[in-house]
Amino acid sequence: MSESEERMTAAYKKARDAFRSGKTRDVEFRRYQLRRLLMLMEENEDEIAEALAKDMRKPRMEALLTEFLIVKNDIANALNHLSEWVTPECPEVSMLNKMDTVFSVSEPLGVALIIGAWNYPIQLTIMPLTGAIAAGNCAIIKPSEISAAAAQLIEKLIPQYLDQDCFSVINGGVEETQYLLNKCIFDKFFYTGGSAVGKLVMQAAAKNLTRVTLELGGKSPCYIDKDSDLEVAAKRLCWGKFANSGQTCVAPDYVLCHPEIQESLISQLKETLFDFYGETISVKVAFKAVVGKRREKIGLEPMTQQTAAPLRRLKGLLDNGKCVIGGDTDASQNYISPTVLTGVKPTDPIMENEVFGPILPILDVESLEDAIDFINDRDKPLALYIFSNDKSKIEKIMNSTSSGGFLANDTVVHVGVTTLPFGGVGGSGMGAYHGKYSFDAFSHKKACLVKKQNMESLNSLRYPPYEEKSYNW
Ligand code: NAD
Repeated sequence: MSESEERMTAAYKKARDAFRSGKTRDVEFRRYQLRRLLMLMEENEDEIAEALAKDMRKPRMEALLTEFLIVKNDIANALNHLSEWVTPECPEVSMLNKMDTVFSVSEPLGVALIIGAWNYPIQLTIMPLTGAIAAGNCAIIKPSEISAAAAQLIEKLIPQYLDQDCFSVINGGVEETQYLLNKCIFDKFFYTGGSAVGKLVMQAAAKNLTRVTLELGGKSPCYIDKDSDLEVAAKRLCWGKFANSGQTCVAPDYVLCHPEIQESLISQLKETLFDFYGETISVKVAFKAVVGKRREKIGLEPMTQQTAAPLRRLKGLLDNGKCVIGGDTDASQNYISPTVLTGVKPTDPIMENEVFGPILPILDVESLEDAIDFINDRDKPLALYIFSNDKSKIEKIMNSTSSGGFLANDTVVHVGVTTLPFGGVGGSGMGAYHGKYSFDAFSHKKACLVKKQNMESLNSLRYPPYEEKSYNW
């Protein structure tokens, strides 16, 4: 066994023993760990922001909104509602069970493996961890090796704040993740990342029938209706699309709209991008790197479509349709300007996989019905967006399509609603989390029935021999 394998096995065994000791079942213990997790986020804001800037050139304000606020709200929400979540639920029962105590309890699954992705390295590890702790599990966290500064910081901070037997961080790449997936028997895999690795996680889960949550990506469409306020639509669309350089799982991937409104839409998009990123958006300022180069630099094979030499991959996509905004690249800065393409055909290569970068293709559709058909012909998306002032159109697209989440007249912000489940369907994932859904993702609902030993005569009918018994129901 290599040194790193020994370290992983030791962390796993420690967590397994700690779980068996029963200490995570104590609700006060969970509460204390959650309070410590919140302190971790509060006391290390500067260091975390610096790590995110180092990994992704993430501006502090963006980090505050997308990594701090959402995570802190989620932990605070768990602390506020934990008593409610752990209370057994008593369902309605029929006459048969009126004398019994019937309830379900949420019991912890055991030891969980949380595998994070690089694009929101804090949110995608700490939010699942919040659910794991709240539900009374032990956990091993495997941050993405691509966002290395954040991964190292998580490894440094978690043992300073949380119980060291129950919670460990393992840093590493494919080899380490494969070892954890295949050589240790976990009770839960919580994976965030691309679908190719998601399938490997499912394969590993099949061996021991481990429970799985898969938070994947995909192409999230955005339909813009003719009656929309295009100024508002452009602002909200650009914010969701170009934040984190377009490297957001729920970023609008492409726009579907009628050709009649495209000229006005493009002029609004141009204005918005000038406002957001500077007078001449082709100047290489204020825009962040597309992460991924590091993987090549450290000699790792590109493993997913999204991380395979991103700049080269994205540059290749600029040949699709006609570039009407941006299109500049600078390999020395690992830079690509916010770009909009029109006249993109459904069969163009850019429509094959998630763009996962700051390029927005616009495709023509004649009507809402065409947009619905277009969406239903493809994998179920993680998010579906519509901009329209017509309630009936919003309802129509919502009820005729399937997607992980649905948002009308904005982009991305549904992710921040703690009381909504966040997750995909079909190709965009399985299972959900955030708020109570995180607690459920790491719990087993145990059905419980407690009878008394009296009134045995009531059972006489169910015991054999049956020959002499009659019924009249
Ligand atoms: P990534 O490269 O960081 O990989 C994710 C994790 O998988 C990492 O921890 C990595 O170490 C591990 N991994 C990679 N290859 C592996 C292998 N062969 N075997 C075992 N483990 C392996 O992230 P990525 O895949 O580039 O992530 C981007 C994708 O994730 C996009 O499709 C994006 O939409 C999706 N995503 C989804 C969500 C969500 O919440 N649904 C959030 C963020 C990203």
